[in-house]
Amino acid sequence: MNDQFPQHAPLTQFPVQENCLQIGGIPLIWLAQRVGVTPFYAYDRQKITERIALLRQHLPVDVLLHYAMKANPMPAVVQHLASLVDGIDVASTGEMKVALDTIISAESISFAGPGKKPHELSCAIAAGIVLNAESELEIELIAQLGEQLGVAPKVAIRVNPEFELKSSGMKMGGGPKPFGIDAENVPEVLMRIGKLGLHFVGFHIFCGSQNLNAIAICEAHTKIFQLGIRLADHAPSPIRLLNIGGGFGVPYFPGEKALNLAVIGENLQNLMSDLQQQLPETRIALELGRYLVAEAGIYVCRILERKQSRGQVYLITDGGLHHHLAASGNLGQVVRKNYPVIIGNKVQGSDTEIVSVVGPLCTPLDVIAERMRMTKASAGDLVVVLQSGAYGLTASPTAFLNHPLPMEVLV
Ligand SMILES: *Cc1c(COP(=O)(O)O)cnc(C)c1O
Repeated sequence: MNDQFPQHAPLTQFPVQENCLQIGGIPLIWLAQRVGVTPFYAYDRQKITERIALLRQHLPVDVLLHYAMKANPMPAVVQHLASLVDGIDVASTGEMKVALDTIISAESISFAGPGKKPHELSCAIAAGIVLNAESELEIELIAQLGEQLGVAPKVAIRVNPEFELKSSGMKMGGGPKPFGIDAENVPEVLMRIGKLGLHFVGFHIFCGSQNLNAIAICEAHTKIFQLGIRLADHAPSPIRLLNIGGGFGVPYFPGEKALNLAVIGENLQNLMSDLQQQLPETRIALELGRYLVAEAGIYVCRILERKQSRGQVYLITDGGLHHHLAASGNLGQVVRKNYPVIIGNKVQGSDTEIVSVVGPLCTPLDVIAERMRMTKASAGDLVVVLQSGAYGLTASPTAFLNHPLPMEVLV
């Protein structure tokens, strides 16, 4: 339908049977019965497995695949991913605890993020995980704590490069940043690390999130490899790991297309061949969050009421921004755009209409879909927000208006 309401590219990751979306092989209506309440998040185990397989198919075999678990920290999801990836990146001691409960070994877990407290650092040092140091002060603190504990902490330096990741949704490197140590100061810091007797692991360079431009990602990777090789000259010991960050995007909005992995894989293959010559002991890790889980997840809520106001139809649901801030457009969007939203138990139908889907919160910000074309629906039907497996519940203000927490299931 080509009207003034922009259409999303068709999303086909979940099969439809008898007009009902299937997730994990279960018709949505049954899954809702099984869960027992709405709203809920459902994550499809098989889709996560397939996503890792797709990446392995396109990436050079010797690239390590890490999961940045802040994208979706549900323990069952992390456990499933732990059987498929080579490492986990955590950003808090809460996440560290979940990661340490998996089969991933401590030395393949890394801890990033500014403002790590002494207590958090000691826990991580005792666990034997890699600390991605974000500042000079943090390195001094790590050394002191290591001395107290009688071990040499494993440390990587998070580098704030001089370049930015072009066309990324959220920039995390380049220019002044709270993350990492400015590249120009790294040689001096490396000398200090040698003197402090820390166990130096390598570099962590991550510049931005939600990027759908394969060429821009390739350019960033090329610059990251160059920077890593240049800085390695100053290191007290060979670079064992160069963590090149995450940031692979997924399509959310009309006009967006899936990332071209083949282009990224080919570029990485070339870069790896060069690296082999210059730094034969260095391994490369990609730490992906969103790309591994976003498309495997849905958010499901139930229509409570169908209401008309001055000619506009509102579907009022039991779900909203308190569970899914990103879909409401309030997580970093400048201009609000609709996530792909469908009626999960009436996926297709010739009887469509333009509706707005809203939640139960007393604020005009509580919007799930604004003036979108959907199958005609009524109270009791299930609204599904697709592409919801990453930065969904974990990035939402669940205490706002104090409604109950939604359920989460991995099927
Ligand atoms: C959030 C984060 C990631 C993952 O980013 P995605 O865009 O979800 O791939 C990777 N590394 C670090 C340090 C992060 O903070």
